[in-house]
Amino acid sequence: MTSEAAPPGLLRGPLDALKGIGPARARDLASSGVETPLDLLLHLPFRYEDRSRLARIADLAPGSPAATVGGTVLSARLVRTRRPGFTIFEAVLDDGTASARLVFFNQPWLARWMTPGTRLFVFGAPGETGRGRRGVVLENPAVEADVDDPDSSLSVGRVVPIYRKLRGLQPRLRRRLVAGLLDAADRELPERLPAALRAAHGLPTLADSLREAHFPGSAGGDPDPEAFVERRSPHLSRLVLEELLELQVGLLLRRRQRRHVPGPLLAATPEIRRRLASLLPFALTPAQRRAIRQIGADLRSGRPMSRFLHGDVGTGKTIVAVLTALLSASCGWQTAFLAPTEVLAEQHAASVFRLLRGTEFTPALLTARVRGRPRRALLAALAAGEVQIVVGTHALLTDPGAFRRLGLVVVDEQHRFGVAQRAVLGTREGPGGERPHVLVMSATPIPRSLALALYGDMDVSTLDERPPGRSPVATRVLPEAARREVLAEVDAEVARGGQAYVVVPLVEESESVEARAAERHAEDLRRALPGRRVAVVHGRLSGEEREAAMSAFAGGSVDVLVATTVIEVGVDVPNASFLVVENAERFGLAQLHQLRGRVGRGSRPSRCVFLAGEAATAEALDRLDVLVRTDDGFVVAEEDLKRRGPGDFLGTRQSGVPFLRVANVVLDVGWLRVARDVAAGLVDSGREGPFAEPLFLRRTASDG
Ligand code: ADP
Ligand code: MG
Repeated sequence: MTSEAAPPGLLRGPLDALKGIGPARARDLASSGVETPLDLLLHLPFRYEDRSRLARIADLAPGSPAATVGGTVLSARLVRTRRPGFTIFEAVLDDGTASARLVFFNQPWLARWMTPGTRLFVFGAPGETGRGRRGVVLENPAVEADVDDPDSSLSVGRVVPIYRKLRGLQPRLRRRLVAGLLDAADRELPERLPAALRAAHGLPTLADSLREAHFPGSAGGDPDPEAFVERRSPHLSRLVLEELLELQVGLLLRRRQRRHVPGPLLAATPEIRRRLASLLPFALTPAQRRAIRQIGADLRSGRPMSRFLHGDVGTGKTIVAVLTALLSASCGWQTAFLAPTEVLAEQHAASVFRLLRGTEFTPALLTARVRGRPRRALLAALAAGEVQIVVGTHALLTDPGAFRRLGLVVVDEQHRFGVAQRAVLGTREGPGGERPHVLVMSATPIPRSLALALYGDMDVSTLDERPPGRSPVATRVLPEAARREVLAEVDAEVARGGQAYVVVPLVEESESVEARAAERHAEDLRRALPGRRVAVVHGRLSGEEREAAMSAFAGGSVDVLVATTVIEVGVDVPNASFLVVENAERFGLAQLHQLRGRVGRGSRPSRCVFLAGEAATAEALDRLDVLVRTDDGFVVAEEDLKRRGPGDFLGTRQSGVPFLRVANVVLDVGWLRVARDVAAGLVDSGREGPFAEPLFLRRTASDG
């Protein structure tokens, strides 16, 4: 039997198949991410306006709330103005109780149809008529509909959906399109939630939920738009659950697929174990040992590992990854160790080189800065299997086939690698069809809810303790005015042999403005701290210059390092004991916690001062106070996520968070758990089929 592809249907077809959408509008919409009618349908209103009560014009008074009135146009005229390009169109609308003056700026086209005798509805806030005239005026009211238009019921006499604006789509047209798409949804979208599940949680059908989401009250019953806005509507919950279920089924399927793929067999013999232990510069913490046991079990399972290792700053994730790489090398397999930035790649490379000194293993560093002949030589050595561990930035990913036997990929990710990129990592095969093991490390702790959404396809190891001998970093939030005293403290700390970081605030405009601000700040510090050696690092420096400054600081020949947030990414200078962050209110909590992790890494008691600028609001100060109260990165992460939402928590541009249309991983965390359980049940019993075709999740959803 030949299988014929089913026609895509209206919802998954092209946008310009819709009446009123031509190729130009379709292109505009596509540029805002609406590529199919389905995209439009799943773009839910963010609020509603109750236009169910029609007002009488006689009851309108200047300053009374916005209202809908309907009537007949008595007169209309285009007013000439002296300003070129500026037009005023005026119409008088009468509903039998009184008349109102409608004033439209720069909408001359209205003159073409809003002629005397036209019957229409408008919605707007009444204002003063001025100049002694009587009656009310409505300036730029929303022209809702022609009274005789069969679609007028979508915009008038009901609770009306208000959407975030999309270029090229006027509200009235949009409501009409959505109404049509809801009918298409009845025909084309199957009900996928098992009836028992719906019954257990009191959830309505998909068709009803979509209708209610767009036009409250249309599935029968009283409209309750507040329930949507406050996220307590069962109609919304149903859509949220379905979206999360799709996500979780996808993640669980990925996890299950790995069970049928071979992975490199990496087993530590007692001899290898002794060898690795002898290389360690310190005793592992119990948490590190636990993580290594879990990883060890994965590596000898014959299946590719896919493990997420997270822990607070300073809990020692790097050594866990390096030991794993060494085990892989001992068994004859290569490791790619990927860092998000060159600074961090160089630092990881330095710790790998240090540990491997005196062993037979050859490590290498491969970043964009390695060019020409050295690069070609290195790639040849990798291909020949002469290099066992290569540390680099994700540019490594663009050199496919570079390895002879890639057994392990370590990703130190700072959320910068998307789920899709991780999937690519696992596709290169070894000589026996083996897929490499993958270990992903996060820079900061990830709240449970987010970890489930982002890393639900992976096993998780958590480092929940710091190496012994670390005292918590004494943290204060101070006003800018205290800078002088703070600098005196810095000076005293340097006199005692310590070192300090001073972090300058983010500058949004450009890297060069930020660089100049950092340079200027360094100058100020040199004046304020005479005799102290001050260096500066920022994104505008070349790699060599940055490295020179960083290694001078690490080597102790610089006392104070002024930095933009380039130091955030995991730099490790154990002697640094003082951190000052300027304009701390401009940073996210998780980021500040990460910055704070740059000190308190050695045995020296450490201090941290967050300076709040004059513009800092009470809310911002309250937020900063979280860092004074706790040094538990998981608590900080939860607070940050709660206060800023997942987009900002992850950083919007580099989020790698699957794009969720309706669900919010923070507010809907309860449903996330339900979805996880239900998805596991469906996948275990082979009933996940209907969820394999994404409805909510975009195909490109997982690209970071
Ligand atoms: P993070 O988890 O933030 O990446 P690192 O791996 O950079 O932490 O480790 C932080 C510091 O602690 C490093 O200087 C590292 O050498 C050190 N370290 C890691 N594990 C231990 C341990 N078990 N005992 C003592 N020091 C350790
Ligand atoms: Mg780290």
